[in-house]
Amino acid sequence: MAKVLVVADIKQGVLKGSTAELLSKAGSIGAQTAVVAIGSGVNALLSDLINAGSDTQYIADDPNLAMFSAGPYAACVVDAARQSNADLIWFGFSESGKALAPRVAAQLDCACATEITDITLAGGQIEITRPAIANKVRQRIKVNSAQLVAVVRAGAFEAREDITGSENVVTLSPPAPDLKAVIKELLSDAGGDIDLADADIVVSVGRGAKDQAGVTLVKALADDLNAGFGASRALVDGGFMAHNKQVGQTGKIVAPTLYIAVGISGAIQHLAGMNGSKAILAINKDPEAPIFNVADYGIVGDLFEVVPVLREEIKKVRA
Ligand SMILES: Cc1cc2nc3c(=O)[nH]c(=O)nc-3n(C[C@H](O)[C@H](O)[C@H](O)COP(=O)(O)OP(=O)(O)OC[C@H]3O[C@@H](n4cnc5c(N)ncnc54)[C@H](O)[C@@H]3O)c2cc1C
Repeated sequence: MAKVLVVADIKQGVLKGSTAELLSKAGSIGAQTAVVAIGSGVNALLSDLINAGSDTQYIADDPNLAMFSAGPYAACVVDAARQSNADLIWFGFSESGKALAPRVAAQLDCACATEITDITLAGGQIEITRPAIANKVRQRIKVNSAQLVAVVRAGAFEAREDITGSENVVTLSPPAPDLKAVIKELLSDAGGDIDLADADIVVSVGRGAKDQAGVTLVKALADDLNAGFGASRALVDGGFMAHNKQVGQTGKIVAPTLYIAVGISGAIQHLAGMNGSKAILAINKDPEAPIFNVADYGIVGDLFEVVPVLREEIKKVRA
């Protein structure tokens, strides 16, 4: 039986939903499931880790692990991978996952794949699917090593409601501190905006909004919906939105329940960041805009007229 080790995605002491998604997938391919949780105070997450579907929990809980640091975190994952004899080591789609995966693969001397969207195990042969060339093609790759470290693309797998695990805790010894790089402070977006990666709804604005007044108009829709607020590169390059709000190939990859693209044409580089969304609503005055090829719902119209009407209707529904 294959063994999967999922690296828990923990942000500010909270276990993120991607951990349950990865453990659900591991369960659905008939694998034994283990999770490794790293940080300070992560012992408190034990019941969440079990409920997410893990049968063994490797826990590295140490004050020195309070802040993410690639060296010590990778050492914990490698320790858990060796102790659990894992065939597959999976990270969720996060900056820390992307930083750790190659380090862990190098230390385990095994294959590493990023942005995987599916995985199969037939007769012991690992096969993965991943997008390439800005989502123009999908690659199916046979992995010629017995072990694989993989970063799973956001929203690739669904968490199963019926899944649960069992308690079997293994305490990991804290790794040696990383003297090459010591992170002293983390500065986060002071705006207090909803993180695009975590948002259930994302509203993104494009060049169709023209200027800052247009951006503000669309932002109000995002606020009404308690949604994350993103942008196409055109608006970031134009200086209207910060780079950490850019969705796409060279920005963030999001997979919310609902993605609303306002005044965005749907260039392939933008689609690469959002076409994994469960439902897409596009608002564009050009009925031929490519965004409508991927949209589940489309409104052809001037965003300066459509957005206020939409806000009114949302208010009515909510009331
Ligand atoms: C290497 C590389 C990487 C890139 N990475 C990214 C990336 O990560 N993310 C990204 O977004 N782009 C990226 N791009 C840029 C991408 O190719 C497009 O240029 C960009 O996405 C276009 O942004 P847009 O859709 O906002 O603008 P446009 O393509 O100019 O589209 C504006 C749209 O708004 C509509 N519109 C205009 N006025 C209105 C109105 N009043 N009401 C309603 N609709 C209106 C128009 O019909 C049009 O469809 C990248 C490009 C390259 C070469």
